[in-house]
Amino acid sequence: MNPTIIQSAYLVAAVLFILGLRNLSSAKTAVTGNLQAAVGMLVAIVATLVDSSVISYEVILAGILVGSLAGAVLALRIEMTAMPQMVALLNGFGGAASALVASAEIFGARHAVEIHGATHEAATLEGIVPVAIVLSVLIGSITLTGSLVAFAKLQELIGGAAITYPGQQFVNGILGLGMVGLGALVVMGTGSMESFDINVFYGLIAISLVLGVVLVIPIGGADMPVVISLLNSFSGIAACATGFVLDNSTLVVSGSLVGASGLILTQIMCVAMNRSIGNVIFGAFGAAAQKGEASGEAQDQGNVISYTAEDAAVIFSNAQSVIVVPGYGMAVAQAQHAVRDLTDTLTEQGIDVKFAIHPVAGRMPGHMNVLLAEADVPYDKLIEMDEINPLFPETDVALVLGANDVVNPSARDEKGSPIYGMPILNVDSAKHVFVIKRSMNPGFAGIQNPLFFKDNTMMIFGDAKKVVMSLAEAVRKY
Ligand code: NDP
Repeated sequence: MNPTIIQSAYLVAAVLFILGLRNLSSAKTAVTGNLQAAVGMLVAIVATLVDSSVISYEVILAGILVGSLAGAVLALRIEMTAMPQMVALLNGFGGAASALVASAEIFGARHAVEIHGATHEAATLEGIVPVAIVLSVLIGSITLTGSLVAFAKLQELIGGAAITYPGQQFVNGILGLGMVGLGALVVMGTGSMESFDINVFYGLIAISLVLGVVLVIPIGGADMPVVISLLNSFSGIAACATGFVLDNSTLVVSGSLVGASGLILTQIMCVAMNRSIGNVIFGAFGAAAQKGEASGEAQDQGNVISYTAEDAAVIFSNAQSVIVVPGYGMAVAQAQHAVRDLTDTLTEQGIDVKFAIHPVAGRMPGHMNVLLAEADVPYDKLIEMDEINPLFPETDVALVLGANDVVNPSARDEKGSPIYGMPILNVDSAKHVFVIKRSMNPGFAGIQNPLFFKDNTMMIFGDAKKVVMSLAEAVRKY
């Protein structure tokens, strides 16, 4: 196939990726964006397949079949709440694929030396290629093992707490220096493949795999979603480097897009959780989370007022405005359809209902938006934190549905709190606050919530879905 046609197809694919990403940034255009990106990927795949450098269609077909089957089974079986670990696995495999493809260039060049001699074209790695191979191998390997550790922690295959030991940062520093040193040796050594010692390359792979593990183990399991976002960005950077190795422009573009968007997402999550990106990279916040867990043991903060759904229905029926604050518990209970039913019932009674969306409610960015969209809650009812906070003081009822940390006033009022400084939804300024959760157990940060002990807060204990269904029923009967 004419290289100009292939390059033009790659250009079309790159434009579609960029348009897709742009449209994915708004819920209204997200479906179109997804479609554009998928078409872009199809164009890129077809262009690659018709390229004359394909050696074996059988191997490619086998890969597509095995990959599609595994992907379909995983996608069908995975629970919505387990999405972070699923994403972790996919990132890890992406990193591994990049590292393997880049490694194949080194093995290919060595093979060419043995068969054709050192002067053969295929036996020389020129220009930026050796640097790109090293970057792809080291970032891809770190992404693989780092993501596997993150997966194991989130899936509770290993303990989720931060694993720390004395001198950890020093050991990590030595490993990091070793990796850079070996990387430099590989770049210099591959100038002459004939005398290149392949063990140096194996050493680079090994040290990068170890670094992936040691960088992620000091981070508490509950903080893993931020790390996953960062590893997602790494997988993109590794793919981008592999694009340079293969001289494939579409891989360079798509890899950079994943790398940059992953980094932006990491930054957004850090801001929403009041952490710096430096904390994430150096693992310092693992220790902070542990401190949070320690101080989270239920402290006696006074009495809580417990209501039944039937009691609450009286207040709901007399309200003029209700703000629903969904959190992780809504995802666990899969209560989104029941919530939609409740809000329909309230709206029919002339009550104004809005949803307050905290940027880190749930366990992944956009978690609440996705669930509420699934239940067809109108998108204009979903209001972001900065816009909804001024509305709470004039709101009759704030309904906190399986949310905890994102409505914890300690983040605003208590300087010593592990979550101090994290922006929250100020539900406590509403006239009445109802909190639906199963117990007094803390949420993600592991700390008790003074909101539950306030005079205007009423707890309705139970599974979010069941309680919301009873509440809707009681409001209809009232
Ligand atoms: P939290 O984890 O703070 O609290 C969730 C609450 O839901 C728990 O207290 C739990 O209480 C309750 N719950 C669990 N299951 C049910 C159920 N079936 N029915 C009713 N309630 C239930 O969640 P938030 O959404 O408030 O906060 C998210 C946290 O996650 C923040 O700390 C954030 O920093 C963190 N985070 C979020 C990320 C994101 O991208 N969204 C990424 C990384 C971290 P009980 O057991 O008593 O029922």
